[in-house]
Amino acid sequence: MARDRLLPEVLGLTATSLDAWRRCPRLYLARYLLGVPASDSGPSPDFGTFVHALLHRIHATGSCADGDHVRDVLESHGADEGVIPTMVARHAARCPSRFATRARHEHELARFHRGAPQFIAAGRLDAIWQLDDVLEVRDYKTGGRATERVADDPRARVQAWIAAPVAERLGVGLRIRYEHLAAEVDDEPDPFEPDADDLAAITEELRAVVGAIRDAGADASGAGFVGVRDAAVCERCDHRSVCPDSAAPGVPTWPEPPEFDDA
Ligand SMILES: [Zn+2]
Repeated sequence: MARDRLLPEVLGLTATSLDAWRRCPRLYLARYLLGVPASDSGPSPDFGTFVHALLHRIHATGSCADGDHVRDVLESHGADEGVIPTMVARHAARCPSRFATRARHEHELARFHRGAPQFIAAGRLDAIWQLDDVLEVRDYKTGGRATERVADDPRARVQAWIAAPVAERLGVGLRIRYEHLAAEVDDEPDPFEPDADDLAAITEELRAVVGAIRDAGADASGAGFVGVRDAAVCERCDHRSVCPDSAAPGVPTWPEPPEFDDA
């Protein structure tokens, strides 16, 4: 076996790291193997993170169906005006909490693949509800709809693979649903209810990706991770100004050092 020093013995992967690999192997190298800090600020994830945190808080301390409770949480976080109350109301109309025997928000799961190549897939799931005959995993989306069928989204496929053993242990089916907080209920993409064949196919997809990453890492210099040099990809990349393969280099915008008083 080739000695690929760039890579750990057991590769860790997430939906986000796989997304980076698919977009550009060079980005994957910089961000996930070398830990190169971003040279360019990307689109801010702050709004989405804030809405996710509010939904977590609302469910951890009460019910999204309790109008007074929701108002209290939103007010105490300065989120009682603008678009967020509408998003939370849209969520409440779709929330399965009252049918659920168990619920978790912001839940970390990981799954180890024992066979070759070994890897650990991990992820934080926005919400999980145990319903009568199905374990429902939801991914809250604050942006626009990017897929017709959740089954077609590689991120959802990773989530399904990670959550599948939990559903199996509970003896229930599995459903991955995207909840678009900016859209009406009837405009949601079709949920993914993977069967054994789907899950086996995902295992093969992940094995293939990990195999390709290990192949790229066989050259310890990192030369196996070739950038895509595609302006459409590069211009949205947060490593575009330090990447030798960049088709859209700019001036790095490193974080400013803090200012210290002379006193
Ligand atoms: Zn809810």
